[in-house]
Amino acid sequence: MNDTVRVTIWNEYRHEREDERYAAVYPMGIHGAIAEGLAAFPELATTAATLDEPEHGLTEERLAATDVLIWWGHKAHAEVADAVIDRVYRRVLDGMGLIVLHSGHFSKIFKRLMGTSCDLKWRVGADGERLWVVAPGHPIVEGIGEFIQLEAEEMYGEHFDVPPPEQLVFVSWFDGGEVFRSGCCYTRGAGKIFYFRPGHESFPTFHNPKIRRVIGNAAKWAAPTSGPRRTFGRSEPVGPAAT
Ligand code: ZN
Repeated sequence: MNDTVRVTIWNEYRHEREDERYAAVYPMGIHGAIAEGLAAFPELATTAATLDEPEHGLTEERLAATDVLIWWGHKAHAEVADAVIDRVYRRVLDGMGLIVLHSGHFSKIFKRLMGTSCDLKWRVGADGERLWVVAPGHPIVEGIGEFIQLEAEEMYGEHFDVPPPEQLVFVSWFDGGEVFRSGCCYTRGAGKIFYFRPGHESFPTFHNPKIRRVIGNAAKWAAPTSGPRRTFGRSEPVGPAAT
């Protein structure tokens, strides 16, 4: 099996094109900043796809050649075609990793995979955020200290309406006093999913070295393994267990 992990960064890419305040923070787009961060990981081969490309850049061929899909979306979730979501959903169940960032909590794909509303409290102010590592030793926090400190971020607060994570990796605390489960691991079918909270479009979060490290670690963690392919349906005997 090839050791290279093929990562596709999917970005809605509207805020940065339509509002110069966000373009100033992300002149290459949010996907460009994430790709720049992942360039520090030699085992990751990164490309990008955006909403306004044909089929949102997520054709069957493209997804078949994607080991891990990273998803940032916000104001145009409803514009993502259901046929493309069906395709991404099938690929996740078949083993493709998925990393959902920040406002992607309301994306069609995340809501479908979670089966809940994925709603939460929020406030765009000037809250500082401290993301505490609550799963030391987990591969996603390799190279991260006890916590990540962000000077200013959008607040997301509990309750976060998601199923209980199979592994909780980060808990955030905000200046306003709220807490949030900000790093959540799931499996669906053969696919691994990581939800990571920070990354509002007006803040330089995706330039932060520790945030970049977490996303790169998560891409490696979520990559499919070369285990057996899943098979379903009527099945013939494979022979007795005893020899
Ligand atoms: Zn936001």
